Amino acid sequence: LVGSEMCIRDSYEDSLNMALTDTLTGLYNRRYLDAHLEKIIANIDRTGKPIGILMMDIDHFKHVNDTYGHQAGDEVLVEFADRVATRLRSFDLVARQGGEEFVAVLPDITPEIAMQVSERLRHSIAKDPFEVSSPEGPIKCSVSIGGAIIDSAETSVENALKMADECLYEAKEGGRNRTVFKGYGVVMPDMYLSATMQ
Ligand code: GH3
Ligand code: MG
Ligand code: MG
Repeated sequence: LVGSEMCIRDSYEDSLNMALTDTLTGLYNRRYLDAHLEKIIANIDRTGKPIGILMMDIDHFKHVNDTYGHQAGDEVLVEFADRVATRLRSFDLVARQGGEEFVAVLPDITPEIAMQVSERLRHSIAKDPFEVSSPEGPIKCSVSIGGAIIDSAETSVENALKMADECLYEAKEGGRNRTVFKGYGVVMPDMYLSATMQ
């Protein structure tokens, strides 16, 4: 009896987690991102600490699917999620917004550190090709990133994401595989090498 109760509780927790996470990558999903972002933006007045938003979109991902197949595309998404998640701090958040688009939320950050984190993430994607089960692999990938700092609790989630998204658009227009940061423009690639990520 105890055993079956445990199973019921486990499956209840599984279904709660499933409502918050993306099944392919295990990252948080868009619904969770929106709710979480609203809370941490509301906290800015109390903490006095700005947050960073990084909007990431894999470059030419359609080409990956078209050339290597949808299964290889899925494997790239899983590995991409892992490379990003393992490079963030424990209290940062990364979510899959949809398709090949991901958002990182960095609480208690400065523009300089947010740009540095962004460049490290970008470099971690472009540096090594992605291992896939398809014989044509490994696959070279890159990501474009738009970043913004939110320092007012009055900012809506929609506007916060829009600021980063506009910079992402500029990063794509400017040639991809780059970070464009609100108020700073294109971030120099050697930024990921400098200082520490504290
Ligand atoms: P850009 O550099 O401008 O971002 O080009 P792109 O090809 O990455 O952008 P586009 O939006 O044209 O293509 C995104 C592709 O991502 C199209 C869609 O089929 C694919 N995609 C979305 N979700 C998934 C998924 O879960 N798995 C796989 N394998 N592909 C996906
Ligand atoms: Mg896209
Ligand atoms: Mg893309």
